[in-house]
Amino acid sequence: MFGRAPKKSDNTKYYEVLGVPKNAAQDDLKKAYRKAAIKNHPDKGGDPEKFKELAQAYEVLSDPEKREIYDQYGEDALKEGMGGGGGGGVDPFDIFSSFFGPSFGGGGGGSSRGRRQRRGEDVVHPLKASLEDLYNGTSKKLSLSRSVLCSKCKGKGSKSGASMRCPGCQGSGMKVTIRQLGPSMIQQMQQACNDCKGTGESINDKDRCPGCKGEKVLQEKKVLEVHVEKGMQHNQKITFPGEADEAPDTVTGDIVFVVQQKEHPKFKRKGDDLFYEHTISLTEALCGFQLVLTHLDNRQLLIKSNPGEIVKPDSFKAISDEGMPMYQRPFMKGKLYIHFFPDSLAPDQCKALEAVLPPKPASKLTDMELDECEETTMHDVNMEEEMRRKAHAAAQEAYDEDDEMPGGGAQRVQCAQQ
Ligand SMILES: [Zn+2]
Ligand SMILES: [Zn+2]
Repeated sequence: MFGRAPKKSDNTKYYEVLGVPKNAAQDDLKKAYRKAAIKNHPDKGGDPEKFKELAQAYEVLSDPEKREIYDQYGEDALKEGMGGGGGGGVDPFDIFSSFFGPSFGGGGGGSSRGRRQRRGEDVVHPLKASLEDLYNGTSKKLSLSRSVLCSKCKGKGSKSGASMRCPGCQGSGMKVTIRQLGPSMIQQMQQACNDCKGTGESINDKDRCPGCKGEKVLQEKKVLEVHVEKGMQHNQKITFPGEADEAPDTVTGDIVFVVQQKEHPKFKRKGDDLFYEHTISLTEALCGFQLVLTHLDNRQLLIKSNPGEIVKPDSFKAISDEGMPMYQRPFMKGKLYIHFFPDSLAPDQCKALEAVLPPKPASKLTDMELDECEETTMHDVNMEEEMRRKAHAAAQEAYDEDDEMPGGGAQRVQCAQQ
């Protein structure tokens, strides 16, 4: 059915969002969604993001076909279009209305959210952030230009609020032109109507709104203050719901900033951990070292070896709680790993060392005899890892043998399943 095996991604999130077990029946899903959606409705002061998440989770899990895809392959599979939707295509208010009707949320009449309104596009901006920004948290003011509905005509384009059918296209927004190409050949072309720019409407010159000249929208500069919180990750999204371009009869989309972490000259980041590379001289490796490291918040950390300790080349040491702060739990921090690189020795330094150190054992073989020996290549091993793998392999073998024995494990499992 699928061209290539889809990657397995998270398939528990939607259940967690609704707070139901994986085997929940349709009725339980409905109840869970109903309860949570009322609580989180933005008109009642709820979090719009949470409200959207609920709708998305319910939209997928309430559809047996989508639910099956989700259970098997996770959210990404639905986004890739196998179930059509599940991603950003759902209007949370539509789903909510299907439960409670469109007039929920007090007032009713004046609500700007009709049942079948188109949803405007989200506007996505990259947001560069330094590692310092992500360690300390910061806020950035960004000036954006956006379309807003003309307040004079409330997006109607006319003083009276009336509009006529465009005479150029009879209100269809499209124009068909026919060209004669030859005696028995014609070409039919469909284009957006020029007179009304495809809207199908036209506004009487005298009735035209002076504010927007009939365009219905105006350009507005808006300054958004974006809070980059401590511990945010590369590609994390910061959403301003309903702040994108406004258009008539359209639910305004979101402005979404996507954090783009800049490279740091000293520190590398992996999740909540930081990595710092430090080169030490042979003398420091053998006789001890001391290093003052300036952290991302400008604190000076004193890092030194233990007395008598020899620092091995290419080794790591870790300092707890000096990594990145965790997102929304900034008092918890990852680790800071220091990767030690030794300086290599110049040939004359080797000679000087050899003169001081006890002599190397002399080779008992002549050069000729050495030439006859087989060359080998040594590679590095992690002994702990090696031993663990061997122990695991031995255990696996013992288990496999157990399986083959008559009346052994495998058969018992089968009996128990029937
Ligand atoms: Zn037209
Ligand atoms: Zn206007």
